[in-house]
Amino acid sequence: MPGYVKPVFLVFLVVIVSGACGGVLAANRGRSVIAWCLVCALFPPLLLAVYLSGPLCEVEGKFRRCANCGAFNKWHEPVCGQCRTKQPEVQSIDS
Ligand SMILES: [Zn+2]
Repeated sequence: MPGYVKPVFLVFLVVIVSGACGGVLAANRGRSVIAWCLVCALFPPLLLAVYLSGPLCEVEGKFRRCANCGAFNKWHEPVCGQCRTKQPEVQSIDS
């Protein structure tokens, strides 16, 4: 039967993809990779919750905390998005 995809395969694909995405997003935010991987695999809409949630702690290369107000900013952000304090230079982790 051309053009026919088994529903089981589709479900399997969604579980794998959303689980992987949840794991990556969680890792970027300093959250539990395994837990979020499982949760997102079983319930894909929660991907949005992980995506929108802020980081729990500083994640090297992703997020760091402002020394002045404690807000999280992107790693290479030169100025805090909350209080506009200039952020200290960070060494590149690429090298
Ligand atoms: Zn700040």
